Amino acid sequence: LASKLPDVGTSIFSVMTQLAQDSGAINLAQGFPDYDPPRPLLEALARHVLTPGHQQYAPMPGLPRLREAIAAKTARLYHHTPDPATEITVTSGATEALYAVLAAVVRPGDEVLILEPAYDLYAPAVRLQGGVPVYVPLLLPDFRPDWDQVAAALTPRTRLLMLNSPHNPTGATLTPADLDTLAALLRPTPTLLLSDEVYEHMVFDGEPHRSVAGHPELRERAFVLSSFGKTYHATGWKVGYCVAPAALTAELRRVHQFITFSVSTPTQHALADVLPETSLYDALPAFYQQKRDLFRELLSDTGFRLLPVQGAYFQVADYQALAPDLDDETFARRLTQETGVAVVPLSAFYHNRQDHRLVRFCFAKQEATLRAAAERLRHL
Ligand code: PMP
Ligand code: GLN
Repeated sequence: LASKLPDVGTSIFSVMTQLAQDSGAINLAQGFPDYDPPRPLLEALARHVLTPGHQQYAPMPGLPRLREAIAAKTARLYHHTPDPATEITVTSGATEALYAVLAAVVRPGDEVLILEPAYDLYAPAVRLQGGVPVYVPLLLPDFRPDWDQVAAALTPRTRLLMLNSPHNPTGATLTPADLDTLAALLRPTPTLLLSDEVYEHMVFDGEPHRSVAGHPELRERAFVLSSFGKTYHATGWKVGYCVAPAALTAELRRVHQFITFSVSTPTQHALADVLPETSLYDALPAFYQQKRDLFRELLSDTGFRLLPVQGAYFQVADYQALAPDLDDETFARRLTQETGVAVVPLSAFYHNRQDHRLVRFCFAKQEATLRAAAERLRHL
Protein backbone atom coordinates (compact mmCIF):
# COMPACT_ATOMS: atom_id res chain seq x y z
CA LEU A 1 0.00 0.00 0.00
CA ALA A 2 1.39 3.41 -0.93
CA SER A 3 1.59 5.37 2.34
CA LYS A 4 -0.02 8.78 2.64
CA LEU A 5 2.80 9.73 5.03
CA PRO A 6 5.78 7.75 3.73
CA ASP A 7 8.37 9.81 5.60
CA VAL A 8 6.63 9.66 8.97
CA GLY A 9 7.63 7.03 11.51
CA THR A 10 6.11 6.20 14.89
CA SER A 11 5.70 9.29 17.10
CA ILE A 12 8.85 10.15 19.02
CA PHE A 13 6.85 10.02 22.28
CA SER A 14 5.95 6.36 21.74
CA VAL A 15 9.46 5.54 20.61
CA MET A 16 11.20 7.14 23.62
CA THR A 17 8.71 5.74 26.13
CA GLN A 18 9.25 2.25 24.74
CA LEU A 19 13.01 2.73 24.85
CA ALA A 20 12.76 4.00 28.43
CA GLN A 21 10.77 0.93 29.45
CA ASP A 22 13.12 -1.46 27.65
CA SER A 23 16.19 0.07 29.28
CA GLY A 24 14.78 0.78 32.74
CA ALA A 25 15.31 4.51 32.26
CA ILE A 26 13.52 7.29 34.12
CA ASN A 27 11.12 8.65 31.53
CA LEU A 28 11.56 12.40 31.23
CA ALA A 29 10.81 12.10 27.51
CA GLN A 30 7.07 11.84 26.92
CA GLY A 31 5.16 14.69 28.52
CA PHE A 32 2.94 13.30 31.26
CA PRO A 33 2.85 13.63 35.05
CA ASP A 34 3.83 10.76 37.35
CA TYR A 35 1.23 11.88 39.94
CA ASP A 36 -2.52 11.53 39.95
CA PRO A 37 -5.35 13.97 39.26
CA PRO A 38 -6.86 15.88 42.19
CA ARG A 39 -8.88 13.64 44.50
CA PRO A 40 -12.18 15.55 43.95
CA LEU A 41 -11.92 14.86 40.23
CA LEU A 42 -11.32 11.14 40.73
CA GLU A 43 -14.20 10.95 43.19
CA ALA A 44 -16.44 12.81 40.75
CA LEU A 45 -15.59 10.36 38.00
CA ALA A 46 -16.30 7.41 40.28
CA ARG A 47 -19.66 8.96 41.17
CA HIS A 48 -20.66 9.52 37.57
CA VAL A 49 -19.50 6.10 36.42
CA LEU A 50 -21.91 4.70 39.03
CA THR A 51 -24.76 6.99 37.97
CA PRO A 52 -27.29 5.22 35.75
CA GLY A 53 -28.11 7.45 32.81
CA HIS A 54 -24.56 8.83 32.54
CA GLN A 55 -23.27 5.99 30.40
CA GLN A 56 -24.67 6.78 26.95
CA TYR A 57 -23.63 9.18 24.20
CA ALA A 58 -23.12 12.75 25.28
CA PRO A 59 -24.44 15.49 22.97
CA MET A 60 -22.19 15.86 19.92
CA PRO A 61 -20.68 19.28 20.90
CA GLY A 62 -20.16 18.28 24.55
CA LEU A 63 -22.29 18.17 27.70
CA PRO A 64 -24.08 21.51 28.13
CA ARG A 65 -23.01 21.74 31.78
CA LEU A 66 -19.36 21.27 30.85
CA ARG A 67 -19.60 23.86 28.07
CA GLU A 68 -21.18 26.28 30.54
CA ALA A 69 -18.35 25.71 33.00
CA ILE A 70 -15.82 26.31 30.20
CA ALA A 71 -17.58 29.56 29.29
CA ALA A 72 -17.44 30.70 32.92
CA LYS A 73 -13.75 29.80 33.16
CA THR A 74 -12.95 31.65 29.93
CA ALA A 75 -14.84 34.70 31.19
CA ARG A 76 -13.04 34.64 34.54
CA LEU A 77 -9.54 34.32 33.08
CA TYR A 78 -9.73 36.05 29.70
CA HIS A 79 -12.66 38.43 30.02
CA HIS A 80 -14.51 36.90 27.12
CA THR A 81 -17.67 34.81 27.48
CA PRO A 82 -18.05 32.39 24.59
CA ASP A 83 -21.61 31.19 23.95
CA PRO A 84 -21.73 27.57 25.16
CA ALA A 85 -24.36 26.75 22.55
CA THR A 86 -22.45 27.92 19.50
CA GLU A 87 -18.83 28.70 20.42
CA ILE A 88 -17.52 25.81 22.54
CA THR A 89 -16.92 22.20 21.46
CA VAL A 90 -15.63 19.42 23.70
CA THR A 91 -13.17 17.15 21.90
CA SER A 92 -11.25 13.96 22.43
CA GLY A 93 -8.19 15.73 23.75
CA ALA A 94 -6.60 18.74 22.11
CA THR A 95 -5.30 16.17 19.61
CA GLU A 96 -8.72 15.64 18.11
CA ALA A 97 -9.44 19.38 18.20
CA LEU A 98 -6.24 20.05 16.25
CA TYR A 99 -7.06 17.43 13.69
CA ALA A 100 -10.70 18.46 13.34
CA VAL A 101 -9.80 22.14 12.90
CA LEU A 102 -7.29 21.28 10.19
CA ALA A 103 -9.72 18.93 8.45
CA ALA A 104 -12.43 21.59 8.65
CA VAL A 105 -10.52 24.50 7.14
CA VAL A 106 -7.51 23.29 5.12
CA ARG A 107 -8.12 22.54 1.44
CA PRO A 108 -5.64 20.92 -0.97
CA GLY A 109 -2.93 23.43 -1.81
CA ASP A 110 -3.65 25.70 1.16
CA GLU A 111 -0.58 26.89 3.03
CA VAL A 112 -0.39 26.58 6.80
CA LEU A 113 2.27 28.50 8.74
CA ILE A 114 4.00 26.46 11.41
CA LEU A 115 6.52 28.03 13.78
CA GLU A 116 9.34 25.55 14.32
CA PRO A 117 10.11 23.71 16.55
CA ALA A 118 6.49 22.54 16.70
CA TYR A 119 4.43 19.78 18.26
CA ASP A 120 4.87 16.67 16.18
CA LEU A 121 1.33 16.27 14.89
CA TYR A 122 0.95 19.69 13.27
CA ALA A 123 2.70 19.12 9.95
CA PRO A 124 1.48 15.55 9.25
CA ALA A 125 -2.11 16.57 10.04
CA VAL A 126 -1.81 19.53 7.65
CA ARG A 127 -0.40 17.27 4.93
CA LEU A 128 -3.19 14.72 5.35
CA GLN A 129 -5.60 17.46 4.30
CA GLY A 130 -3.52 18.19 1.21
CA GLY A 131 -2.23 21.34 2.88
CA VAL A 132 1.31 22.63 2.51
CA PRO A 133 3.19 23.31 5.76
CA VAL A 134 5.27 26.49 5.55
CA TYR A 135 7.88 26.55 8.30
CA VAL A 136 9.05 29.69 10.06
CA PRO A 137 11.88 29.17 12.56
CA LEU A 138 11.61 30.34 16.16
CA LEU A 139 14.89 32.00 17.01
CA LEU A 140 17.45 30.81 19.52
CA PRO A 141 18.29 31.36 22.31
CA ASP A 142 14.77 32.08 23.57
CA PHE A 143 12.71 30.67 20.68
CA ARG A 144 10.79 33.86 20.05
CA PRO A 145 8.85 34.36 16.82
CA ASP A 146 10.41 36.74 14.32
CA TRP A 147 7.28 38.52 13.11
CA ASP A 148 9.08 39.92 10.06
CA GLN A 149 9.75 36.37 8.94
CA VAL A 150 6.12 35.45 9.62
CA ALA A 151 5.02 38.45 7.55
CA ALA A 152 7.33 37.39 4.73
CA ALA A 153 5.86 33.88 4.76
CA LEU A 154 2.23 35.04 4.49
CA THR A 155 0.80 34.65 0.97
CA PRO A 156 -2.71 34.84 -0.49
CA ARG A 157 -2.79 31.06 -0.06
CA THR A 158 -2.07 31.12 3.69
CA ARG A 159 -5.19 29.54 5.12
CA LEU A 160 -4.09 29.18 8.72
CA LEU A 161 -1.34 30.09 11.15
CA MET A 162 -0.65 27.71 14.03
CA LEU A 163 0.39 29.22 17.35
CA ASN A 164 1.38 27.41 20.54
CA SER A 165 1.87 29.30 23.80
CA PRO A 166 3.12 28.22 26.31
CA HIS A 167 5.20 26.36 23.82
CA ASN A 168 6.02 22.68 23.51
CA PRO A 169 8.95 21.88 23.44
CA THR A 170 10.64 25.16 24.45
CA GLY A 171 8.52 26.67 27.23
CA ALA A 172 8.45 30.03 25.47
CA THR A 173 5.39 32.25 25.89
CA LEU A 174 3.91 35.03 23.79
CA THR A 175 3.58 38.57 25.10
CA PRO A 176 0.72 41.05 24.62
CA ALA A 177 2.97 42.84 22.11
CA ASP A 178 3.35 39.61 20.14
CA LEU A 179 -0.41 39.24 19.92
CA ASP A 180 -0.86 42.86 18.86
CA THR A 181 1.82 42.50 16.20
CA LEU A 182 0.19 39.34 14.92
CA ALA A 183 -3.23 41.00 14.85
CA ALA A 184 -1.83 43.82 12.72
CA LEU A 185 -0.16 41.31 10.38
CA LEU A 186 -3.33 39.31 9.88
CA ARG A 187 -5.69 42.31 9.65
CA PRO A 188 -5.54 42.65 5.84
CA THR A 189 -5.71 38.88 5.29
CA PRO A 190 -8.40 36.18 5.56
CA THR A 191 -5.89 33.89 7.33
CA LEU A 192 -7.32 31.96 10.28
CA LEU A 193 -5.54 31.25 13.53
CA LEU A 194 -5.24 28.05 15.52
CA SER A 195 -4.01 28.80 19.03
CA ASP A 196 -2.88 25.70 20.92
CA GLU A 197 -3.02 26.72 24.59
CA VAL A 198 -2.98 23.32 26.27
CA TYR A 199 -0.41 24.61 28.81
CA GLU A 200 -2.46 27.72 29.64
CA HIS A 201 -2.23 27.10 33.40
CA MET A 202 1.54 26.70 33.44
CA VAL A 203 3.01 30.19 33.09
CA PHE A 204 5.70 31.28 35.53
CA ASP A 205 7.34 34.23 37.27
CA GLY A 206 4.09 36.03 38.01
CA GLU A 207 3.09 36.48 34.38
CA PRO A 208 -0.49 35.74 33.35
CA HIS A 209 -1.24 33.53 30.37
CA ARG A 210 -1.95 35.70 27.34
CA SER A 211 -4.77 33.82 25.68
CA VAL A 212 -5.86 34.57 22.14
CA ALA A 213 -9.37 34.22 23.61
CA GLY A 214 -8.59 37.39 25.57
CA HIS A 215 -7.57 39.35 22.46
CA PRO A 216 -10.73 40.94 21.02
CA GLU A 217 -9.39 41.21 17.49
CA LEU A 218 -7.52 37.91 17.14
CA ARG A 219 -10.22 35.75 18.69
CA GLU A 220 -12.60 36.71 15.87
CA ARG A 221 -10.52 34.52 13.53
CA ALA A 222 -9.23 31.95 15.99
CA PHE A 223 -9.77 28.41 17.20
CA VAL A 224 -8.44 28.38 20.79
CA LEU A 225 -7.61 24.93 22.16
CA SER A 226 -7.09 23.61 25.65
CA SER A 227 -6.68 20.19 27.27
CA PHE A 228 -8.04 18.91 30.57
CA GLY A 229 -5.34 16.26 30.37
CA LYS A 230 -2.73 18.91 31.17
CA THR A 231 -4.80 20.91 33.63
CA TYR A 232 -5.79 17.94 35.79
CA HIS A 233 -2.76 15.62 35.46
CA ALA A 234 -5.01 13.29 33.47
CA THR A 235 -3.42 12.91 30.04
CA GLY A 236 -5.04 9.49 29.75
CA TRP A 237 -8.56 10.91 29.92
CA LYS A 238 -8.27 12.55 26.50
CA VAL A 239 -10.67 15.45 26.92
CA GLY A 240 -10.02 18.88 25.49
CA TYR A 241 -12.02 21.65 23.94
CA CYS A 242 -12.09 24.40 21.35
CA VAL A 243 -13.42 27.94 21.74
CA ALA A 244 -14.13 29.68 18.43
CA PRO A 245 -16.64 32.14 16.95
CA ALA A 246 -19.94 30.56 15.90
CA ALA A 247 -19.17 30.40 12.17
CA LEU A 248 -15.84 28.64 12.82
CA THR A 249 -17.35 26.37 15.46
CA ALA A 250 -20.03 25.27 13.00
CA GLU A 251 -17.33 24.11 10.59
CA LEU A 252 -15.38 22.40 13.35
CA ARG A 253 -18.48 20.50 14.47
CA ARG A 254 -19.22 19.31 10.93
CA VAL A 255 -15.95 17.39 11.14
CA HIS A 256 -15.91 16.54 14.86
CA GLN A 257 -19.26 14.71 14.50
CA PHE A 258 -17.67 12.31 12.02
CA ILE A 259 -14.38 11.77 13.85
CA THR A 260 -15.64 10.80 17.30
CA PHE A 261 -19.21 12.15 17.36
CA SER A 262 -18.90 12.86 21.07
CA VAL A 263 -16.63 12.46 24.10
CA SER A 264 -16.95 10.05 27.06
CA THR A 265 -20.00 11.06 29.15
CA PRO A 266 -18.99 10.30 32.77
CA THR A 267 -15.65 11.99 32.20
CA GLN A 268 -17.34 15.17 31.01
CA HIS A 269 -19.65 15.14 34.05
CA ALA A 270 -16.67 14.78 36.37
CA LEU A 271 -14.87 17.68 34.70
CA ALA A 272 -18.02 19.82 34.87
CA ASP A 273 -18.14 19.17 38.62
CA VAL A 274 -14.59 20.36 39.31
CA LEU A 275 -13.99 23.10 36.75
CA PRO A 276 -15.84 25.68 38.89
CA GLU A 277 -13.30 24.88 41.68
CA THR A 278 -11.01 27.66 40.55
CA SER A 279 -8.43 26.92 43.24
CA LEU A 280 -7.43 23.72 41.46
CA TYR A 281 -6.14 25.42 38.32
CA ASP A 282 -5.12 28.62 40.12
CA ALA A 283 -2.58 26.51 42.04
CA LEU A 284 -0.86 25.23 38.90
CA PRO A 285 1.56 28.05 38.06
CA ALA A 286 3.18 27.88 41.52
CA PHE A 287 3.07 24.07 41.51
CA TYR A 288 4.93 23.83 38.20
CA GLN A 289 7.23 26.77 38.84
CA GLN A 290 8.50 24.96 41.91
CA LYS A 291 9.23 21.89 39.77
CA ARG A 292 10.94 24.00 37.13
CA ASP A 293 13.13 25.70 39.74
CA LEU A 294 13.99 22.44 41.49
CA PHE A 295 14.89 20.70 38.25
CA ARG A 296 17.06 23.59 37.09
CA GLU A 297 18.83 23.68 40.43
CA LEU A 298 19.40 19.93 40.35
CA LEU A 299 20.94 20.19 36.89
CA SER A 300 23.04 23.24 37.66
CA ASP A 301 26.15 21.18 38.47
CA THR A 302 25.92 18.98 35.39
CA GLY A 303 27.35 19.79 31.97
CA PHE A 304 23.95 20.75 30.57
CA ARG A 305 23.32 24.37 29.70
CA LEU A 306 19.69 25.15 30.49
CA LEU A 307 17.65 27.40 28.23
CA PRO A 308 15.10 29.76 29.81
CA VAL A 309 11.62 28.36 30.56
CA GLN A 310 8.62 30.66 30.90
CA GLY A 311 5.83 28.12 30.74
CA ALA A 312 4.66 24.56 30.06
CA TYR A 313 6.44 21.62 31.72
CA PHE A 314 9.49 21.16 29.55
CA GLN A 315 13.15 22.08 29.92
CA VAL A 316 15.32 22.36 26.82
CA ALA A 317 19.00 21.70 27.54
CA ASP A 318 22.16 22.09 25.46
CA TYR A 319 24.57 19.16 25.82
CA GLN A 320 27.34 20.61 23.65
CA ALA A 321 29.82 20.51 26.56
CA LEU A 322 29.05 16.85 27.26
CA ALA A 323 29.02 15.33 23.81
CA PRO A 324 29.93 17.85 21.11
CA ASP A 325 30.14 15.22 18.39
CA LEU A 326 26.82 13.47 18.91
CA ASP A 327 23.69 14.48 17.00
CA ASP A 328 20.64 14.89 19.21
CA GLU A 329 18.98 11.60 18.27
CA THR A 330 22.09 9.60 19.08
CA PHE A 331 22.60 11.54 22.29
CA ALA A 332 18.98 11.01 23.40
CA ARG A 333 19.24 7.29 22.70
CA ARG A 334 22.50 6.95 24.62
CA LEU A 335 21.25 9.02 27.52
CA THR A 336 18.25 6.70 27.74
CA GLN A 337 20.13 3.42 27.38
CA GLU A 338 23.42 4.20 29.11
CA THR A 339 22.62 6.90 31.66
CA GLY A 340 19.07 5.80 32.37
CA VAL A 341 17.25 9.07 31.70
CA ALA A 342 14.99 9.29 28.67
CA VAL A 343 14.68 12.61 26.82
CA VAL A 344 13.39 13.79 23.45
CA PRO A 345 15.86 15.06 20.82
CA LEU A 346 14.76 18.52 19.68
CA SER A 347 15.07 17.49 16.02
CA ALA A 348 11.84 15.55 16.54
CA PHE A 349 10.03 18.90 16.55
CA TYR A 350 11.45 19.99 13.19
CA HIS A 351 10.68 18.83 9.66
CA ASN A 352 14.38 18.26 9.06
CA ARG A 353 17.26 17.19 11.25
CA GLN A 354 18.92 20.02 13.14
CA ASP A 355 22.59 20.49 13.74
CA HIS A 356 22.10 21.79 17.27
CA ARG A 357 22.87 19.96 20.50
CA LEU A 358 19.49 20.18 22.24
CA VAL A 359 17.20 17.77 24.06
CA ARG A 360 13.93 18.21 25.95
CA PHE A 361 13.26 17.05 29.50
CA CYS A 362 9.74 16.86 30.99
CA PHE A 363 9.72 18.07 34.61
CA ALA A 364 6.08 17.15 35.38
CA LYS A 365 7.37 14.59 37.85
CA GLN A 366 7.46 14.01 41.58
CA GLU A 367 10.39 15.53 43.40
CA ALA A 368 11.84 12.06 44.04
CA THR A 369 11.76 11.27 40.33
CA LEU A 370 13.50 14.53 39.43
CA ARG A 371 16.14 13.92 42.11
CA ALA A 372 16.76 10.37 40.94
CA ALA A 373 17.13 11.55 37.34
CA ALA A 374 19.53 14.33 38.34
CA GLU A 375 21.61 11.85 40.30
CA ARG A 376 22.09 9.79 37.13
CA LEU A 377 22.80 12.86 35.02
CA ARG A 378 25.50 13.98 37.43
CA HIS A 379 27.49 10.85 36.61
CA LEU A 380 27.54 11.52 32.90
N1 PMP B 1 -0.73 20.30 21.76
C1 PMP B 1 0.40 20.31 22.46
C2 PMP B 1 1.35 21.43 22.29
C3 PMP B 1 0.69 19.26 23.34
O1 PMP B 1 1.83 19.26 24.02
C4 PMP B 1 -0.24 18.23 23.49
C5 PMP B 1 -0.01 17.11 24.46
N2 PMP B 1 1.15 16.44 24.27
C6 PMP B 1 -1.41 18.25 22.72
C7 PMP B 1 -1.63 19.31 21.88
C8 PMP B 1 -2.42 17.15 22.80
O2 PMP B 1 -3.26 17.28 23.91
P1 PMP B 1 -4.20 16.07 24.38
O3 PMP B 1 -3.36 15.19 25.21
O4 PMP B 1 -5.29 16.77 25.14
O5 PMP B 1 -4.72 15.40 23.17
N1 GLN C 1 2.34 16.12 24.49
C1 GLN C 1 3.22 15.15 25.03
C2 GLN C 1 4.66 15.54 24.76
O1 GLN C 1 4.93 16.50 24.10
C3 GLN C 1 3.00 13.75 24.55
C4 GLN C 1 1.78 13.46 23.79
C5 GLN C 1 1.85 12.11 23.17
O2 GLN C 1 2.47 11.22 23.66
N2 GLN C 1 1.22 11.99 22.04
O3 GLN C 1 5.52 14.86 25.20
